[in-house]
Amino acid sequence: MSERLPILSLVVPVYNEAENIPLLAGEIRRALDPQGISYEVIAVDDGSTDGSWKALEAERAADPRWTLVGLRRNFGQTAAISAGFDHARGEVVVTLDADLQNDPADIPRLLALTGEYDVVSGWRRNRRDPFLSRRLPSLLANWLISKVTGIRLHDYGCTLKAYRREVVEHLRLYGDLHRFIPAMASWIGITLTEVETHHRPRRFGRSKYGIGRTARVILDLITVKFLLSFASKPIQVFGLLGLGATAAGLFIGLYLTILKLGFGAQIGGRPLLFLGILLIVVGVQFIVMGLLGEMLVRIYHETQRKPIYLVKRVVGPMREL
Ligand code: UDP
Ligand code: MG
Repeated sequence: MSERLPILSLVVPVYNEAENIPLLAGEIRRALDPQGISYEVIAVDDGSTDGSWKALEAERAADPRWTLVGLRRNFGQTAAISAGFDHARGEVVVTLDADLQNDPADIPRLLALTGEYDVVSGWRRNRRDPFLSRRLPSLLANWLISKVTGIRLHDYGCTLKAYRREVVEHLRLYGDLHRFIPAMASWIGITLTEVETHHRPRRFGRSKYGIGRTARVILDLITVKFLLSFASKPIQVFGLLGLGATAAGLFIGLYLTILKLGFGAQIGGRPLLFLGILLIVVGVQFIVMGLLGEMLVRIYHETQRKPIYLVKRVVGPMREL
């Protein structure tokens, strides 16, 4: 008989968290074992240099429900989470930090809601991180991401989130996009809710992030917005900008031509002339960029047979695709 598959996969990114591992393992056991939930822990060591791997091996030796994935170097939290998703076998996947800031005792509440929702997002309402360097930027980031993507969440940055398997199967994460998973997943068509979770200050090891990530989050947000709204129709972004710029440039050119031919005005030294030329050149460039984008979209989808839609159900005869 084949091994019974776990219902729940915990995905834990680990980067230099040696002291936290044994405590985390104990907390996970205390939170889940009494509930009789069948689970596995996928711990992804993201190139730790502090003995985290040894600590993980000790857990694996004590509890075969632990699966260890060791990355060759430090690839970053997004990559570590992706590697965890790739190895997870559960019907529900829960991501969770290894540093004990998230509380495994919250997992059963998240899990219970995955019957009804595709994504259940933790919300560290009472977040225990420094205000100026962490909580304030995070407040602004959450507001901005919610506004721009239309997927409203109080706490994008909380790693403790639960996903139904279909969601993570369709996700492809690059760069630092783990903070945008709910927004990225919205492309699939998901139901989403959030629950307040417990948050604790870090006791061992140190945070891998600082204020420096604010600018990166804004750049990532531009990427996510573009992917969500225009990835399959780039001409509509670039083309629109291009048309606007070209039209404004032509209008300026026409105006100056009338001045010159109709009224004999000197236009050679006027800044407006340069603006007109600039607008036309930039506008044409934008349109061409949009067209190149359109070709890339076709190459991307057609060479790899990537769909531009996902089917939930079909009623009626199915055709083999
Ligand atoms: N992490 C990782 N790779 C990295 C940075 C962080 O796997 O390059 C892990 C880290 O070990 C922790 C989680 O991601 O389990 C969150 O990191 P951290 O606690 O430093 O972030 P913060 O809570 O300060 O936002
Ligand atoms: Mg942390």
